[in-house]
Amino acid sequence: MLFPYGTLPFYKPDMMSRPPQESALGVAEAETLIRRTLRPLGTERVALGAAAGRILRETIAAERDQPPYDRVMMDGIALRHGAPARLPILGTQRAGMPALNLTDPSGCIETMTGAMCPAGADTIVPVERITRVDGVATLEPGYTPVPGQFIHRRGSDCRAGEALLSPGTRLSAPALAVLAGNGVAEVAVSRRPRLAILSTGDELVPVDGPVRDWEIRRSNEEAIAASLALHGFGEAERFWAPDDPDATMAVMTRALAERDVVILSGGVSMGDFDYVPQALEQLGVRRIFHRVAQRPGRPLWFGLGPQGQAVFALPGNPVSAMTCFTRYVLPALTAAEGATESRAVPLALAEDAPRLPDLTRFMPARLTHAASGQTLAHLLPVSTSGDFNHLGSTDGIVEIPPGDGAAPAGSAVTFHGW
Ligand code: AMP
Ligand code: MG
Repeated sequence: MLFPYGTLPFYKPDMMSRPPQESALGVAEAETLIRRTLRPLGTERVALGAAAGRILRETIAAERDQPPYDRVMMDGIALRHGAPARLPILGTQRAGMPALNLTDPSGCIETMTGAMCPAGADTIVPVERITRVDGVATLEPGYTPVPGQFIHRRGSDCRAGEALLSPGTRLSAPALAVLAGNGVAEVAVSRRPRLAILSTGDELVPVDGPVRDWEIRRSNEEAIAASLALHGFGEAERFWAPDDPDATMAVMTRALAERDVVILSGGVSMGDFDYVPQALEQLGVRRIFHRVAQRPGRPLWFGLGPQGQAVFALPGNPVSAMTCFTRYVLPALTAAEGATESRAVPLALAEDAPRLPDLTRFMPARLTHAASGQTLAHLLPVSTSGDFNHLGSTDGIVEIPPGDGAAPAGSAVTFHGW
């Protein structure tokens, strides 16, 4: 379908009167605008089984003193310090039972790791240091126990009420242990964003169908969905629109409905069939910026929908789409979740990196860990921003600020993992 220039349904007089954003923004400026625009996600309560990897939104305090009682740390015997080397065994203190009482200070009580220390006992001797014959324990000749040894004192790890986890923490494996150990069966975490991924382009066909000479398989949405899944953002609904204004509007309307974030790719460049910015503005998505002074990914468009949806329209070239997604969308989602972590990591260039005088350069990189302890970024030169077939063995992108000449090997750059 061809429209003579100026007759497209999008080119309404009010839109034409709005001056286009002339120059491209800097990377940091673009990031700041995104951060200011994206609304924080709400919270929900989830069972522990569903909490791994989510962002905590409440303070978790110790349920009680930890350990909650003087805990025996060794299988062995409990005695009163100063007792003789031969001690009658007066009972067995197992884990999971109330404390026994060591009434006779010249006797001992057999103990198991994790049991309460028997009342009246103050020292544990490990089983390896004793022999047991006919109900009598004998200490190894010359062995002198240190008073109080192998007793993990009540409250020595933390006191009841002490804050253990703060809001903004990503719930890791040890954090889950803290929750479980402190009786938290359900926890407040950030709600997952409701996401849509929309690809545009007449040439795009699905992965599992026939592909003709002039067609391209859709790959951006797969990469974006994979990154979302790997970073714990859950499922996104997927859409595709051909390069047709009415169809683009119809599909976008569905993609925008009840979403927090919509991620488009393709159709934001300067081509005659790049309808995305106009269609978005027509649907009431206010442009916050269009174009960032970077390579690849200059055409990046970002706006705010009428229901507060954050709309990222990424350039279609796969390297550009992945770069913009990784540099802007992923950190923005992480911030909207209220996470305190930063996804950007400083590390050193393994070799000289070409700089661009006025543009931030993003280059795919593979990381290695040098014997010195330094993590090095090896750059993968990509011939064009469409060349994604060699990205599969890379770990992410490095951000090389504008400058003259090359950034020398060893210089610090910021790395953003895929
Ligand atoms: P565009 O930004 O629409 O001009 O697209 C730039 C290039 O990216 C074109 O060669 C498209 O075929 C390609 N492209 C756009 N969207 C996708 C996609 N979802 N998967 C793979 N390639 C794409
Ligand atoms: Mg296109």
